[in-house]
Amino acid sequence: MAPKVIVVGGGIGGLCLAHALRGAGVAVRVYERDRDPDDPVRGYRIHVNQMGSRSLRQCLPAPLWEAFLATAGHPGPGFRFQDERLRELLFVEEALMSGGSTAPADVHHAASRAALRRLLLAGLDGVVRFGKVFERYETEPDGRVTARFSDGTSATGDLLVGADGANSAVRRQYLPGPGRVVTDAVGFGARLPLTEATRKWVPAGFQAGLNLVLPSRGCAMFTASFTGRRQALGYQGAERLDRDLAPYGLDLASLTDDLEDYVLLAVIAHRRAIPPGAAGLDGEGLKSLVAGMTPGWHPGVRRMVAEADPATVQLMPFKTSTPVPAWPTTAVTLLGDAVHSMPPVMGFGANVAMRDAALLSSVIAAVHRGEDTLTSAVRSYEKEMLDYGFGAVRTAGRMTDLLIAGSPLVRNVAKGWLRACAVAGPLKRMSFGTRWTDETRQEPERVAARLG
Ligand SMILES: Cc1cc2nc3c(=O)[nH]c(=O)nc-3n(C[C@H](O)[C@H](O)[C@H](O)COP(=O)(O)OP(=O)(O)OC[C@H]3O[C@@H](n4cnc5c(N)ncnc54)[C@H](O)[C@@H]3O)c2cc1C
Repeated sequence: MAPKVIVVGGGIGGLCLAHALRGAGVAVRVYERDRDPDDPVRGYRIHVNQMGSRSLRQCLPAPLWEAFLATAGHPGPGFRFQDERLRELLFVEEALMSGGSTAPADVHHAASRAALRRLLLAGLDGVVRFGKVFERYETEPDGRVTARFSDGTSATGDLLVGADGANSAVRRQYLPGPGRVVTDAVGFGARLPLTEATRKWVPAGFQAGLNLVLPSRGCAMFTASFTGRRQALGYQGAERLDRDLAPYGLDLASLTDDLEDYVLLAVIAHRRAIPPGAAGLDGEGLKSLVAGMTPGWHPGVRRMVAEADPATVQLMPFKTSTPVPAWPTTAVTLLGDAVHSMPPVMGFGANVAMRDAALLSSVIAAVHRGEDTLTSAVRSYEKEMLDYGFGAVRTAGRMTDLLIAGSPLVRNVAKGWLRACAVAGPLKRMSFGTRWTDETRQEPERVAARLG
């Protein structure tokens, strides 16, 4: 069978799926609500972990994967856990998190959301239709499915994939129910530019890599620095890659991020710590609110908050999704945030969406080769996806709970465990080298077997 696939939503997951299906020769069309190919979420970068890296490599044509590597930021030395006075609790080296591998698909990357979107859209002319707001679907008598859009047009295929994000209209029709729920956590996000001037006083550990500041009570802070792009290609390499990118209508310069280097600051607090009316505060007002929640913290951290760019400060309630039991497989399925949205605490969401795309494309490719039926292939995708997808939701939820825990006992137990990991190598390896990445690990052998 040569299935025809309709994807609703041209976000990270939907576009990865489209590339992979196209690469496998499967007929695919993406219907995206936005009229503009530019990313609506401007200004922030996205942390692509090992799972995301492997999935991207699997989904993208080789020149686009190479361009991603050439333009992504450096992952940094690792993940540092500190208390509010910046006393180190534990440092987890990048090499430990990536299982000792330095292969590009096994390590973290800091990607510009805007550049990633340009890259994911490249080569999909004629595949992605913009300005198509999905409204509902209908199942045809022959089992195929028709998606209807607000402009009165429709599209019919053998499989409809809802990749339309956290407020998915496909999911609302397919799996009516609560879907997404509000958590007790809220996050403040802000950017502090890393310039020659700020580098003089930003505490060294915050100038590269990831950090978690975990006090014994009150809010916690996660930071990620996004610095420098790899220039490993050299002039000749860049020239060659530009030639390879030409058929995709891309060049390296168009992918070069226009953002300066910066530290992303994310303060996570219990919503009861937020006064009513906080949502109406401007950037300076929100920074003052955070300053009032972090008395006694290291002056360098307080200064990072005080000098963050007020135009970038955001307050956002964290939401999550409730686990869904397996459903009878039909000609409609879901991918990414549409099924398992989660708080952004661990930076998993896009990575899991990319994993979904890699997995779903590989099982559909097997159908295209005549090795499986569509129903059986989609069923196996859904079984696996629900398992690791809600595994990631649970992990992100547990971490969110820890970061907003009111009890000093809970925090001190967590800190004690981090200190124990710092002195006991095997415990650290077990916790951060294997278990830490379990949720995000994609077994290459299984994927390779599936791909034939
Ligand atoms: C502040 C913040 C930071 C984050 N940082 C990270 C990070 O570092 N790492 C990470 O892995 N994740 C991160 N995430 C999560 C990540 O952004 C999402 O999990 C990811 O974008 C989900 O991908 P998706 O393809 O499922 O959905 P989306 O990327 O949201 O794409 C959905 C697409 O569907 C379209 N759409 C919606 N409705 C319709 C409709 N009715 N008809 C047609 N099209 C429609 C939308 O326009 C959109 O293009 C972060 C999230 C936030 C909010």
